[in-house]
Amino acid sequence: MSDAVLVLNAGSSSIKFELFEVVGDRAETRLDGQMEGIGASPHLIARDARRQVLADHRWPGPDVADHVAALVRIMEGIGPAIEGRRIIAVGHRVVHGGPDLAAPMLVDELAMGKLRALMPLAPLHQPHNIAGIEAASRRFPGVPQIACFDTAFHRAHDWEADTFALPPEFYARGIRRYGFHGLSYEYISHLLAEEDPALAAGRVVVAHLGNGSSLCGIRNGRSIDSTMGFTALDGVPMGTRCGQIDPGVLLHLMQAEGMDAADLTGLLYGNAGLKGMSGISQDVRDLEKSTDPRAAQALSHFAWRVRREIGALAAAMGGIDALVFTAGIGENARTLRARICEGLGFLGIAICPDRNAANDPEIALPGGPTRVLVRATDEESMIARHVLTLLHCSKNT
Ligand code: ADP
Repeated sequence: MSDAVLVLNAGSSSIKFELFEVVGDRAETRLDGQMEGIGASPHLIARDARRQVLADHRWPGPDVADHVAALVRIMEGIGPAIEGRRIIAVGHRVVHGGPDLAAPMLVDELAMGKLRALMPLAPLHQPHNIAGIEAASRRFPGVPQIACFDTAFHRAHDWEADTFALPPEFYARGIRRYGFHGLSYEYISHLLAEEDPALAAGRVVVAHLGNGSSLCGIRNGRSIDSTMGFTALDGVPMGTRCGQIDPGVLLHLMQAEGMDAADLTGLLYGNAGLKGMSGISQDVRDLEKSTDPRAAQALSHFAWRVRREIGALAAAMGGIDALVFTAGIGENARTLRARICEGLGFLGIAICPDRNAANDPEIALPGGPTRVLVRATDEESMIARHVLTLLHCSKNT
């Protein structure tokens, strides 16, 4: 019987999962997948490490009504593939750790209370993350549940990067620039430290560009600043989210156009960004194929904003030694990468068109002063590593 760690990433209507086998002190992936459409049109898909489909099932909505039911179905679906493995812990991606939770944490009743108290800071994500933990506690009673926070990597920001220009009592009440995608940044940072310790000790801007997008300036492995702030709305435009917006626009929409909080939430989270600007799609592939000028404009604005933030983060760190592209857009969208880097010669950034077109791991012009890298991110394996570290520490105390 071998030991395994299950990693869960629970969203509003989906649970993504990945199973890692514990081999010595390492976690090796064995299978992954997701249950989508919980409560509506549930669909489970799971694949092994060679991408062979292990399970592909659909149910009527009421048969998988909530996260608890979804986890039961997931475990049934992958059951045969995990025979002979004992789940020793479940690691959870939790979007918000608030001002104080800056490291992975074993979740007990007390900790659950802390996570619930943070719900107002991330009302669209945190309740679902908590539902995932509750579901896993019921499905695996007695098995340690470990929360890993997207905010944790950024908690060591200097105060200047952490605050808004508001009276200090707002900061004390938790109105801060938390930053997100921390597990992705931490993964990339560890990867660079393994590949090239000297580079990892320098100044690196990581552009995590996916459906949700942000950038982070990392110096010597530490997050110096990030484009996301109090919520995952801030920073660059995203698939459906607006990114940075003048707060005066919101006041205007409320006062002059009668929009309320629900209207603004719908607009800023769901109908802005690439989708809202183009009126076509949130997916870069659709926009690149489209001949509609609004699609081209949306991509152009996206590239502009990302380029601006690279400059801003380089300024925050006193320079830049490497730019790393990651996540769906960063890893794949060659044309956008080239457009983002246009005009960044003053930071020593120059892209080799052939390397970029070939999606090489290194796309800078040879001999250029600033490295430009393309790397796949892997938040789940970062969580699995955190889980093993925490289990190991608790065994030794
Ligand atoms: P999430 O934030 O949901 O994890 P991903 O990191 O998977 O998102 O990124 C998804 C996005 O990546 C897609 O919506 C699409 O815009 C973009 N993308 C994926 N593959 C390609 C590709 N080959 N070319 C251009 N864009 C791509």
